[in-house]
Amino acid sequence: MVESSSSSPSQSEFIPGWEIVVGLEVHCELKTNTKLFCGCANAFGREPNTSVCPVCLGLPGSLPVINEHAVELAIRIGLALNCKVDESIFHRKNYFYPDMPKDYQISQYEKAINENGYLELPLSKKRVRIERAHIEEDTGKTTHVGGDGGRIHGAIHSLVDYNRAGIPLVEIVSAPDLRSAEEAREYVTELRAILVASGASDGKMEEGSLRVDANVSVRRSGSAEFGTRCEIKNLNSLRSLVRAIGYEAQRQVELIESGNAVVQQTRHWNEDQGVTTAMRSKEEAYDYRYFPEPDLVPLAPSAEWITEIGSRIGMMPSDRRERLISMFETAPSGSTFDQIVTAVSLGLDDLVTGAVRNGADARLALARAANEVASDIDHLANINPKTFGELIRMEAGGKLSATQAKKVLGTMLESGEGPQNVAESLGFEALDTSIIEGFVGQVIAASPKEWERFAAGEDQLAGFFVGQVMKLSKGKADGKIVTAILRSKRS
Ligand code: ADP
Ligand code: ZN
Ligand code: MG
Repeated sequence: MVESSSSSPSQSEFIPGWEIVVGLEVHCELKTNTKLFCGCANAFGREPNTSVCPVCLGLPGSLPVINEHAVELAIRIGLALNCKVDESIFHRKNYFYPDMPKDYQISQYEKAINENGYLELPLSKKRVRIERAHIEEDTGKTTHVGGDGGRIHGAIHSLVDYNRAGIPLVEIVSAPDLRSAEEAREYVTELRAILVASGASDGKMEEGSLRVDANVSVRRSGSAEFGTRCEIKNLNSLRSLVRAIGYEAQRQVELIESGNAVVQQTRHWNEDQGVTTAMRSKEEAYDYRYFPEPDLVPLAPSAEWITEIGSRIGMMPSDRRERLISMFETAPSGSTFDQIVTAVSLGLDDLVTGAVRNGADARLALARAANEVASDIDHLANINPKTFGELIRMEAGGKLSATQAKKVLGTMLESGEGPQNVAESLGFEALDTSIIEGFVGQVIAASPKEWERFAAGEDQLAGFFVGQVMKLSKGKADGKIVTAILRSKRS
């Protein structure tokens, strides 16, 4: 039986008898100093329309000049994705939206700089084919005011910011090789890791540096042909990606099972309502009237330059994961491997390996990086392998409880201070074992009945005593030490 579409199917998009087919188009903003065809700054979050010039505003008579650094970053992406890097040409893709002041976007159409590569998923080792990874310029950003959820429909007026117009992008197009929302998530996570590791992108989905369009179709299990697809535009978080694919697949299955057909469409994901809605019927290539850009010569990177770029590309995520794994004495468990994947995908592995070299425990350092540091990644520059390693040593040595260590780390990330200073200013000096013993004594005296039961073997009461000691010590006692004292007093 198929669930009704009003319940929102999330990650488990398992629909008995059906298979989901997904191909992803990922837009990645390149980390250059300037735009793709002019000298304007490539900067996020500036006053609107302050990083613009005649070229990126499309004023008559202006001419594009290709940014060499952007080409180099595109080549790094191609090499990292095992593509054939070759001569390519630029085309004009014509359309008429106010966010494109020239009325066309310069993109690569017939011949992309990178073609026919693949990406290997870290968990399943499945290879997802990359059809192409081409260079194009980003568009401006429109904001619709007064309408329904920021959409143009019903808006009173629209504002447009051209700071983003002309920022270099690489669009990475996968083959329709993905078979579930979870696989799509794993693909984007790994792709982001590759983009960050190659130095091409900061990987920030929430700032729009990485934007994902998901092509989704369904077919009956065992069928060899693909179904008709819909393309869901501009998914800007992994959570949206997973939810949108789940919803869309369910919608298509219900359409087909009720005797209707899927219509090929571009659809919009509504995050609040958890649904996709029709935006427009899918454009065909002829709608764009592609033609070669007459103001740019073909891009023909020399074989020497490509080799040279390849030689300085550095460690890729798979190498980085291996390096982290080698820090563990035994093969890491599933959840530890997940943390390794997360740490590498966010570029936190140098921090962890550096801390371990400074004497920190690998498992604890990895956990704190993949959880606490990951959730405040914008402040990463405020810590380093030395200060982070010192914090982990304080926690592992019992000088800080887990809760305290997390608080200290949070403050370190905010302020850039070292762990010792932060712990002192938060009043987290380590409580001496003798003081903790005193608290344990008080708590036992106050709850003789519970103590009798604990002493008789009711182990679950340990939590009660630890909680009481925590209250008395205002959270400063180390839970592990309290438990050890309780055990020793019982025997
Ligand atoms: P277009 O030229 O219309 O953009 P492409 O052939 O370039 O179409 O494909 C765009 C994306 O759609 C690719 O990522 C591809 O993997 C994906 N795709 C193509 N066919 C399907 C399908 N039947 N189901 C899901 N995804 C598909
Ligand atoms: Zn400009
Ligand atoms: Mg395409």
